[in-house]
Amino acid sequence: MKKDILTTVGVKFALNVDGAGLSSFKSGGRLSLVFYPETEKQVVSLVGVLRNTHIGFRILGGGTNTLIPDGGYDGIAVCLKYFKGIRLADADETGENHRLNIEKVKENVENAEKTPIENRKFDAGILRENVEESTESVEKNAGISRESVEKNGETLRKNTVISRKNIAKSTEKDGKSIETLRKNAGISRENEKFNAERAKKYGFIAADAGVSLPKLSAFALENSLSGLEFLGGIPGTVGGGVYMNAGAYGGEIGRVLEFCDVLEVGSGRVIRLKNGESEFSYRSSVFQRRVGEYVVLRAYFALECGDAAKIKDKMNEFKKRRAESQPKEPGLGSVFKRIDGVIPAILIDKAGLKGYNIGGAAVSDKHAGFIINSRGASSSDFIALKERIKAVVYEKYGIKLVEEIEILE
Ligand SMILES: Cc1cc2nc3c(=O)[nH]c(=O)nc-3n(C[C@H](O)[C@H](O)[C@H](O)COP(=O)(O)OP(=O)(O)OC[C@H]3O[C@@H](n4cnc5c(N)ncnc54)[C@H](O)[C@@H]3O)c2cc1C
Repeated sequence: MKKDILTTVGVKFALNVDGAGLSSFKSGGRLSLVFYPETEKQVVSLVGVLRNTHIGFRILGGGTNTLIPDGGYDGIAVCLKYFKGIRLADADETGENHRLNIEKVKENVENAEKTPIENRKFDAGILRENVEESTESVEKNAGISRESVEKNGETLRKNTVISRKNIAKSTEKDGKSIETLRKNAGISRENEKFNAERAKKYGFIAADAGVSLPKLSAFALENSLSGLEFLGGIPGTVGGGVYMNAGAYGGEIGRVLEFCDVLEVGSGRVIRLKNGESEFSYRSSVFQRRVGEYVVLRAYFALECGDAAKIKDKMNEFKKRRAESQPKEPGLGSVFKRIDGVIPAILIDKAGLKGYNIGGAAVSDKHAGFIINSRGASSSDFIALKERIKAVVYEKYGIKLVEEIEILE
């Protein structure tokens, strides 16, 4: 089954891949098959083939939030780190929906303005035809009976009145719908103006799923766009960042993302989800809640035009703070999520677990929220240590820690 897939999809792949190379904790067994698509087309066709052959798969970005078990992974992994186009997008592109609306409205107005006259002509034509037909039948019947002539005349008059009423009604209706369409056109023109104003104040970046978050942040700086400074030190990819709603120093992906293009795995369609439809909340998104249903293909960010020197200062400030507070050894960042504002690192530190280790995995001395790979740790060491931390914190504070990191299973 897998062999067939390898030959049909034409996407780069590797067999029996060392998990340590795919996770920033640098541990784990082997993955039997990893695909590395490089374009949207490749992602869509690969996922289509997997879906049609009922083969499950897991997406990997930079692996900076993912632990690979020591037993490896026997399913199919699709690693998106080489799908990494990045460019400036123009306001028109990001306002595509508005543009489509405008075109549709224009077309509707034109049609509606044409249609009533045609309809009326058509109605009048039918009316004339009716009159002609009726007159003819009156003439035919004239010899038979004067009474029936009168009756036909009466019917003819009635038909004429009904037809006139219908014409009046449809003219009124057409008038109303033209008015609605004109109103809509007005709203769309307003939207167009709004977009033009936005284009002056904002810049837009379109980044494919595999673009690294630091690269995205640097690209924004190169273009003097402000809003992504906080991403400079988060080592994941755009896809993983959107899935996790990654954030730091008060910034969050969900606050700067305009919309994203995603592949709906079930239908094979590429759809555009607006920010609200991605349902971002603290380190969470719809993609996490409905895992396996979507592949994030590309994210569009709306960023304020700013001053490059100020943007750089802010990035340097965040970099400095990170270097002072976070370990350099391999790890997966914060292992646990905050719960109702409670910071796990503080609890872990207070519980006296800083520096505590199991095998090669240790609670960082610098930041108690991080488990580091201090000396050849296995993934089992990591898992045992995280479970130990959870047990101790629960015992001491009655708080159940929840993992931010994921395990590829
Ligand atoms: C040193 C260090 C510091 C860190 N600091 C921070 C920090 O300050 N703030 C923060 O939020 N995080 C931080 N992290 C964690 C991590 O970098 C983020 O969670 C990041 O968003 C993960 O991205 P990734 O591409 O590596 O995801 P991966 O680990 O590859 O994947 C994580 C999840 O996302 C899913 N996924 C990935 N790409 C896609 C896609 N295209 N479509 C659908 N699903 C996808 C995967 O299936 C998986 O379930 C840190 C990590 C490290 C190692």
